[in-house]
Amino acid sequence: MPYPPLSPAHIRATRSTKPTMLKRVLIANRGEIACRVIRACRELGIESVAIYSRADKDSLHVQIADRAICVGEATNTDSYLNLAHVLMAVEISGADAVHPGYGYFSERANFAEALSTMGVKFIGPPVKAIEGMGDKASAKAAAIQAKCPVVPGSQGVVSSENEALEEAFKIGFPVLLKAVAGGGGRGIRRVDDAKELTRLYKLCESEAQASFGNGEMLVEKCVVEPRHVEIQVLGDEHGNMVYLGERECSVQNLRHQKIIEEAPFALLSDKTRKRMGEAAVRVAKQVGYTNAGTVEFLVDKDENFYFLEMNTRLQVEHPVTEEVTGLDLVHLQLLVASGEKLPIKQSDIELKGHSIEARITAQDPDKDFAPSTGKITRWVTPGGRGVRLDTYITAGTTITPFYDPMIAKLIVTAPDREQAVARLRSALHEFEVEGIATNIPFLRRLVKHPDYRSGELSTAFVGRFLSEASAVV
Ligand code: ADP
Ligand code: ADP
Ligand code: MG
Repeated sequence: MPYPPLSPAHIRATRSTKPTMLKRVLIANRGEIACRVIRACRELGIESVAIYSRADKDSLHVQIADRAICVGEATNTDSYLNLAHVLMAVEISGADAVHPGYGYFSERANFAEALSTMGVKFIGPPVKAIEGMGDKASAKAAAIQAKCPVVPGSQGVVSSENEALEEAFKIGFPVLLKAVAGGGGRGIRRVDDAKELTRLYKLCESEAQASFGNGEMLVEKCVVEPRHVEIQVLGDEHGNMVYLGERECSVQNLRHQKIIEEAPFALLSDKTRKRMGEAAVRVAKQVGYTNAGTVEFLVDKDENFYFLEMNTRLQVEHPVTEEVTGLDLVHLQLLVASGEKLPIKQSDIELKGHSIEARITAQDPDKDFAPSTGKITRWVTPGGRGVRLDTYITAGTTITPFYDPMIAKLIVTAPDREQAVARLRSALHEFEVEGIATNIPFLRRLVKHPDYRSGELSTAFVGRFLSEASAVV
């Protein structure tokens, strides 16, 4: 039961979501997102096929899927990121479509391309759209063409240290050196003056080359204390596209990784929300986008917004959008992937209530957030009205060192932000995990902070919180 109640237009939209073309879907992922997609398939009467590494043989996604195929040993490169193994599993499974989840192959054009030559539908945008948004320079160029404001900086990549310096002087320090192929918060370095740029240029270039196989970089104005605000878009293969409101994701760790996300951004005016939504749709259409995607922006205190990048996949934080729109994004992804029209128009979409997601990770806040592994001996989860937990963990699950440390997403929804924050605090209070360290104690302290409670946030919030906390110790 969605909370708050749906309007008749929403109910019509959710009722008509019956993809006719898809019979069997392989989920090329693991963890909570694999469970999320498998459940959506079952609800729609679609068979699901899981893939798993040997380390994951007892994992929840393997248990709840209709069938499961082992794709290799524990390491990602041998299993979930082994293209030949995953494609072989697709072939053996007889699936007519593949859902990539997030991470892994979700933004790899060569994966989507390989599936298409096999006659298997990739549940995501067309190959050309993935390529168009594939690196930060071409994505920015697409945004400029779509008349969407972008963060000031170099037009495309810089080819030398001198060019980087020239750009930096033009836009003014501080600037960021950004790997065009970076992602997940990696490959971004702040530079405060010319001396630092000279010192760091070569280092950043070789780091980018080593991490992403591409050393190319952009120079971008460092927006001081911005908000990260992103727009969810969804398009069908008949030229229809809607935006499903925004998510505010300014609560990020020092590595630019999101920790808490919410929808809507309570302080955004309706006028700016509409302008951002329309800009996001223009940008997505510019590259021929279909299916679900997210256009990320930075927003300053005066509600000026600047395009950052587009994530051409379902995002970790999609549940908060589902909670405030009442729509099931995975159902809708499956629907449009089967060639059907979007069952909803822009004018049908209303945002109701307030939803917050906290990422629960197996990381030890007392050891600088080092990953924590081992067997979970106690797992007592919060519940009650407006509480949703997307996870693959049960008591007895063993956390191995091979994969992303995110083990659950706690999503709370209430009529307004203040009540949602209270519900989040209460839910975090109830959450008990033993056997491994988690970030739950850290999240409990974070959401008590007056700036978090008042919503006076920026991407600098966590850094400030951490330095205040260490000053107390
Ligand atoms: P966003 O939050 O914008 O979707 P992120 O970069 O935070 O983007 O999330 C994608 C990241 O999630 C990937 O870079 C990867 O490290 C991680 N990831 C990928 N697959 C999984 C998974 N199954 N469970 C948890 N984390 C994953
Ligand atoms: P990624 O591909 O790693 O997600 P993004 O370009 O989306 O990279 O940026 C991730 C985060 O880094 C943003 O949410 C923001 O906190 C910070 N960031 C990126 N670009 C800028 C900028 N120009 N000025 C200030 N902060 C930025
Ligand atoms: Mg990003």
